[in-house]
Amino acid sequence: MKVNLSRTQAKEKIDSFFEKENFTAEEVKKIKRLAMKFKIRLGDNKKLFCKNCLSKLKGRTRIGKVYRTISCGNCGYKNKFKMNQRK
Ligand SMILES: [Zn+2]
Repeated sequence: MKVNLSRTQAKEKIDSFFEKENFTAEEVKKIKRLAMKFKIRLGDNKKLFCKNCLSKLKGRTRIGKVYRTISCGNCGYKNKFKMNQRK
């Protein structure tokens, strides 16, 4: 099945996706693909899933001088995010 989405629709889809309470790695993969297709930046939404296993990121947060590190509760991967990022 081929779905033709406009860029705006794709963006809305991505935004509403990340508002969900929970999502699976498979869903994140699809959303990432969608974002790439339309060259949409995930921005802050990138912080919502683990870079390694793509599951919803909920783990311990450690705040450093430069980075905020969130270790993934699922695979243990340490996700680093730069602090004070401005859009
Ligand atoms: Zn993980």
